[in-house]
Amino acid sequence: MDGCIFCKIIKGEIGSTKVYENDKVLAFKDINPVAPVHILIVPKEHIANVNELTPENAGVLADIHLAAKEIAQKLGIAEKGYRLINNCGADAGQTVFHLHYHLIGGTPLGAKLI
Ligand code: 5GP
Ligand code: ZN
Repeated sequence: MDGCIFCKIIKGEIGSTKVYENDKVLAFKDINPVAPVHILIVPKEHIANVNELTPENAGVLADIHLAAKEIAQKLGIAEKGYRLINNCGADAGQTVFHLHYHLIGGTPLGAKLI
């Protein structure tokens, strides 16, 4: 989608540090990490957020979760644990309106959700 930062990253028009890619999803390091591991996992198809999921496009959620599993294993945090976080809409703090999941870990994150 024109003007979407993550679409530009997917097309290679903006640089990123890629950690995983297949035909459906791309994962790259967050530019402003909040933990030792902070990866963004995005579908290659532009979907603004969870509100735009449909039965037709929701298969990407499985692809994203399977990518998360692979990445966590690759980065050696699968057993220790990690969080997968999605922010949907303004109140949740969503700033990039291309569906993405934050894979966060590499340190104890505590019990609090927010
Ligand atoms: P949100 O707040 O929408 O859930 O998360 C957006 C995330 O995208 C933020 O954590 C922010 O640091 C990250 N981000 C924004 N622009 C870029 C960029 O150009 N490259 C990378 N790698 N991450 C970005
Ligand atoms: Zn996009």
